[in-house]
Amino acid sequence: MKFVDEFRDPQAVHRYIQAIAQTVTQPWTIMEICGGQTHSIMKYGLDQLLPPEIQLIHGPGCPVCVTPAELIDQAIALAQLPGVILCSFGDMLRVPGTTADLLSVKAQGADVRMVYSPLDALQLAQANPAKEIIFFAVGFETTAPTTAMAVYQADRLGLKNFSLLVAHVLVPPAIEAILSVPDCQIQGFLLAGHVCTVMGYGEYQAIAQTYQIPLVVTGFEPLDIVQGIYLCVQQLEAGQAEITNQYQRVVQAQGNPTAKKIVAEVFTTVPKMWRGIAEIPRSGLGLREKYQAFDASRKFKLNSGLSQLQEPSPCISGEILQGQKKPHHCPAFGNACTPEHPLGAPMVSSEGACAAYYRYGKFLAMA
Ligand code: SF4
Repeated sequence: MKFVDEFRDPQAVHRYIQAIAQTVTQPWTIMEICGGQTHSIMKYGLDQLLPPEIQLIHGPGCPVCVTPAELIDQAIALAQLPGVILCSFGDMLRVPGTTADLLSVKAQGADVRMVYSPLDALQLAQANPAKEIIFFAVGFETTAPTTAMAVYQADRLGLKNFSLLVAHVLVPPAIEAILSVPDCQIQGFLLAGHVCTVMGYGEYQAIAQTYQIPLVVTGFEPLDIVQGIYLCVQQLEAGQAEITNQYQRVVQAQGNPTAKKIVAEVFTTVPKMWRGIAEIPRSGLGLREKYQAFDASRKFKLNSGLSQLQEPSPCISGEILQGQKKPHHCPAFGNACTPEHPLGAPMVSSEGACAAYYRYGKFLAMA
């Protein structure tokens, strides 16, 4: 199979749904870690096609959603400094901090710009030597190589007016944090195919063994997802706890060595606070000592302490991001909180679970 239509073939999807129904003998709870997969599940109604024994839980795999309010507050503070151009991806500009979002400070006169890549921000720095260009670097392992490349290039070019507010987070420590909760109900994981495209899946082996849980590298089309669930259910029924790779057409076990090399050159792992969850050890990327000149937190002397701030009420994004509640369980869902007037990040982001439920009308079925 080479073309996307083949991965959206309803008959092929139904064949796998049937195979799952014929394999399953008891209830199983599976988390799809990635918000992109959550959107596919909701868009194609896959959760409604599955046999009732299979419960899907939506994970925290949306980097915009898990960026804590304190970091957004720091980005806002930076954007308000004279001579600064603050750049980030579009979704990030609408996520609420504790009192405001980046778009609202842009409306008040701050120079906040949407970019599609950190390399766009780098070009801005070259084109505007009298300005300070700060890139609010958000993303999982998928976007970290491009951010790393921007820093590497900035270093080689000797750019002094380019820096990062780093909010990159890593998936494996988040899975471990979820599995470490004493009453965790999750019995299997669909891993994010694009993350594994970059990093491979070797580091998940220890998680499978330690927590005795099957993990399936899975793509994003409907056929990918039902195949991933089928492979997970097969393992669960057989009592296995291995890594299997459903997304073989894209993902190699070792990942992308070039991308991993540039990430390792520029970044090291650091503890990170996750919005609505907690600080997770080694779950984020921070600039290595050699590249500290590009760290906006240091350059502009921001308070680097990890925040204990509570998320703005009444958003229950922490429970949503850990799969403890579904979006329609939030009292604000669909009334006080909509994509036009979001109260929390999961309603803003194109990968957010609340946005997926709202967009695909799930809440109507639940009403
Ligand atoms: S519906 Fe809105 S307020 Fe409720 S958890 Fe989702 S983002 Fe937060």
